[in-house]
Amino acid sequence: MMKILTVALVTIFGLCATAAYAASDRRPAPPGAPEDAPPEYTRFTPAELEKGFLALAFGSDLRVGGKPKGIRKFTGTAKIAVLDQGSVSRGDRYKAVVREFARVIPHLDAKLTDTEDDANVTVRLIDEKNFLGAMEQAFGKQVARDFVAKTDPQCMTSLKSRPDGTIVRADVFIIVDQGDDVFFDCAYHETLHAFGLSNHADSNPFTTLNQTRTVGYLSVYDRAMLTILYDPRMQPGFSAKEASGVLPAILKDLGNVVR
Ligand SMILES: [Zn+2]
Repeated sequence: MMKILTVALVTIFGLCATAAYAASDRRPAPPGAPEDAPPEYTRFTPAELEKGFLALAFGSDLRVGGKPKGIRKFTGTAKIAVLDQGSVSRGDRYKAVVREFARVIPHLDAKLTDTEDDANVTVRLIDEKNFLGAMEQAFGKQVARDFVAKTDPQCMTSLKSRPDGTIVRADVFIIVDQGDDVFFDCAYHETLHAFGLSNHADSNPFTTLNQTRTVGYLSVYDRAMLTILYDPRMQPGFSAKEASGVLPAILKDLGNVVR
């Protein structure tokens, strides 16, 4: 039930992937994934990648302020502070998640920082009972309560971006005291949001951003989604039409995305 709150505008496009799936080469979840994590596919058709990308890169659960906009991404360094504030210490494991994203996504400039003041991404690892309080502290009572009433979130991410699509700040809340499955699913799901994949696609059988799935690792498909987003040809502020214009060339270079 992870949800995203967008604190500065975006476009909501209700695109749904309804094509017959042709993904292939299924393999078990990678080492380190939760025991019952689902297998993953490693090859996708261009249509499966394009539809997924257009569904996930535009829109979000809740917008606060601003006009609808397009593609959002970091254009400089994402400096990530991890605040280990829960009763179960998972800071080191979450930092490994960040390093994994930074390692495998070309052109994504992300690094950890120990200084909260220096960060433009703040990740709070908290217990479930402190979730509403932490959101209220970050966004104010009204926004936090409206959001919870609307979406009943488990973990969440708030993105603040400029009108040109550049992300200026992300705030991430991850629950650490409800077991490995919740933690790992939240960790990967919310980190995808934090880097600019704002939306969900509940009919898409490949992505962690399908709220009916529990995944818990960075799948080949989601890696492809972020690789497309951070390709220099995919510019912040792009509309869905503009994004569609550059997708064929990006997908061609991406090939079959087998890792
Ligand atoms: Zn979500």
